[in-house]
Order: sequence, then structure tokens, then C-alpha cells
Amino acid sequence: MVKKKQLAILGATGSIGTQALEVVRANPDRFVIQVLTAAANAELLIQQALEFRPRAVVIADERKYAEVKKALAGTSTAVLAGNAALEEVVQGDGIDLVLTALVGSAGLRPTVAAIRAGKDIALANKETLVVAGQLVMALVEKHGVNLLPVDSEHSAIFQCLVGEDSNSVEKIYLTASGGPFRGKSREYLATVSHEQALRHPNWVMGAKITIDSATLMNKGLEVIEAKWLFGLDIRQIDVVVHPQSIVHSLVQFADGSIKAQLGLPDMRLPIQYALMYPERVKNSFKRFSFIAYPEFTFEQPDRQTFRNLALAYHAMERGGNVPCILNAANEVVVAEFLKGKVGFLQMSDIIEETMQAVDHLPLPSLDDYMATDSKSREIATALVTKSKNLYHI
Ligand code: NAD
Ligand code: MG
Repeated sequence: MVKKKQLAILGATGSIGTQALEVVRANPDRFVIQVLTAAANAELLIQQALEFRPRAVVIADERKYAEVKKALAGTSTAVLAGNAALEEVVQGDGIDLVLTALVGSAGLRPTVAAIRAGKDIALANKETLVVAGQLVMALVEKHGVNLLPVDSEHSAIFQCLVGEDSNSVEKIYLTASGGPFRGKSREYLATVSHEQALRHPNWVMGAKITIDSATLMNKGLEVIEAKWLFGLDIRQIDVVVHPQSIVHSLVQFADGSIKAQLGLPDMRLPIQYALMYPERVKNSFKRFSFIAYPEFTFEQPDRQTFRNLALAYHAMERGGNVPCILNAANEVVVAEFLKGKVGFLQMSDIIEETMQAVDHLPLPSLDDYMATDSKSREIATALVTKSKNLYHI
């Protein structure tokens, strides 16, 4: 009998969170849910709490506290509210692994708190490493915890590296689907709506990452994520567009040999691998068929049309708090794009301008990152307002 793993899931009501709960549901002898959290979806959080009976739930939106508290009255689940509670609950005794499936830089503080408390991390929230990769990796090292990637590309690389000496890696290739606008021109992109951008060809995901996939910012964030996770130099990370999304990423070794990890685009697989690592456990997910995919294709990403990818490389080269600025500005423009308040191409312009406007710091502390994050949001928001007046959107 294997000891059950005690889990905390941050962002339990989202795309990754609900798929993680599917994995847990299918393996009741392996997991106990200790903590579930959500931003504002009280209804689903309550339903999940009644099913999994965690020790605590957190609803980040304090206006929803009374509703959750009332629904869970008489159960053994403690109900907390607010962002500070996220940092508190991840430190709970007995928690073995924290799955960070919340969106954006909001993931940074709870992840740092969990690492400091000695918890292993299953990382879906890539923004944490984009914003503060240097600081987070130093804490991972100091506290001797495991940082297990959930992002499909990083899971692929992680799986390719099992049994290998990490010094023998020559380079990695992150694959990208290219998103819904692959092959389109800037003229076309100038007119696209958020509804079009939300139609991803291969993956069903949360809104923010779906827009990031359409702009190629997602791949930019993933390049930075990979740099920190695998301790690579920027020149060792390449991006290749693979529209079928079957080859999830590749590692090239010192002798020229290349290993890849393949599978259908189904996030439950990398989630399960991270939650069960190092074990591979049987599941009933649909299997890949070569006959259904007779052709794999590969092409260069179009960095001129999709400027966000180039901006992310630039931010990574600059280092310090620059990727944090990039990320914060991106969170602002994506939220505004989803409201129809900024155009598709303007998103890159505003990110670039914000990167120029905020002071660069070479070795930021956690407080510096938080200050950079809010300053960058302020500037990006002002730029959105300015561009609205300019373009009459
Ligand atoms: P989602 O929008 O579907 O869900 C996000 C979850 O986090 C929800 O439970 C929401 O209530 C909670 N949340 C959002 N903002 C919060 C905040 N400020 N404070 C507290 N809780 C908050 O998002 P998702 O698609 O599941 O993505 C989650 C993370 O995983 C992101 O960082 C994303 O980049 C990454 N990721 C997602 C996928 C995918 O297939 N969805 C793949 C790879 C990586
Ligand atoms: Mg990914």
C-alpha cells in the first residue's frame, strides 16, 4: 500500500484544477485533498469541497465568503477568504504537494510560501517562474523541494531528461501549435476579435493562456519558464511550430541524439505525471494513433508578425525584473483585449512601451518584484486608456 499523497490545489475550479481533480477522482487510493482554492467561482468550489472534503478551502474574492461559509457549515472544512489566506493554507501540516493552477503573478507569493514550508510543487502557474525565476529556483535549492512541471512542453522535456545527465543537454526545442492565427498577416491580425482568438485549434484552456497562445506570448513565457526549470542558457532554447500538437517538446543531447515525448493533446497526462512522479500509473485516457495523424509538420515561428515572442526573449536577455514587467503588462493587455478594449496588435506595443518605462533592477527581492508588478500594471493600464483615445476602439 502506497502512502496517500496529501494535495493542495490552488485554482481548483479552472481548466487545470478540474482536470487535476479528475486524476484524483480516478485514483482515490493515492491522493487525499487537503486544500482547494478558487478566485470567485463559489458554486463550483462548494461542490468540489462537498465531494473531496478538504481540511480547508479559500475563496480569494472576499465577497463570496459568506456564501461558501454557509454552504459548508456543519462540514469539517474550514473556509477562508482573501489572497493572504492562500499563503497560509499551503503551509498546512501534512501537505506533501501543492499544485499551482491559478493564473498570473498572483501565484508567486503562495508558491514562495509553500517552498519555504518545504512542500513539493507541481507547477502549472508558469508566471511564477517568469516573474521571479531566479529567486524561486534559489528557494527550491535551499529548501530541497521538488519542482515538477505541469506545462505540457516542460513535462515533455522533464520526461526526456529522466535517466540523463543534465550536463549532456545541448539544446531543447519547445514546440508551439502556432495558435488560431498561424500564417496570418499583420493586416489580418489588426482586425481580429477576442472571440476569434479564443478558438484554439488543439487545446481547451483558461481564457488568459488561450489569448497568450494566439499572440505567441505563451511560448515566450514558456521559454523563460524552461530557462529556470532546466538551468539553460537562452541560446540553448529554440521554438519550433508544430501545428498537430503531438510532439510536446524535444531535447537534443551532446552527441546529437534527440529525444521527444509524444501524445494526444490532453493536459491530464502531464498533470498525472507531475502528481504521481516518479511513477507511471495506468489510466483510461484515449491513446494516440499514427493512422489518425499521418503527417507531422514543423516550421519556424513568425517573430515579426507575433512580436511577443521576440519581446519575451529580449526580456529574458535583460534579466532582473524585466520579465516581471513583461508579464504584468501582458496580464493587463490580455484582460483588456478580452473586454474588447484593446486591439490584438496593440498588445505588443503596450508591453514594449511598459518595458521601456519601468525602472530595471538587476537582482530584485520579493518585495521589488511585487512593486515592479504593480508599477507595470499601472503604466500598462494608462497606456491602454491612451491607446483607446488614439484609436477610438
Ligand atoms: P483558468 O482560468 O481556467 O483557471 C484559473 C484558476 O485559478 C481558477 O480556479 C480561478 O478561480 C483561480 N484564480 C484565477 N486568478 C486568481 C487569483 N488572482 N487569485 C486566486 N485564484 C485565482 O486557468 P488555467 O487555464 O487552468 O491555467 C492555470 C495556470 O496553468 C496558468 O498559469 C496557465 O498558464 C497554466 N497552464 C494551463 C494550461 C491549460 O491547459 N489550461 C496548460 C499549461 C499551463
Ligand atoms: Mg504549454
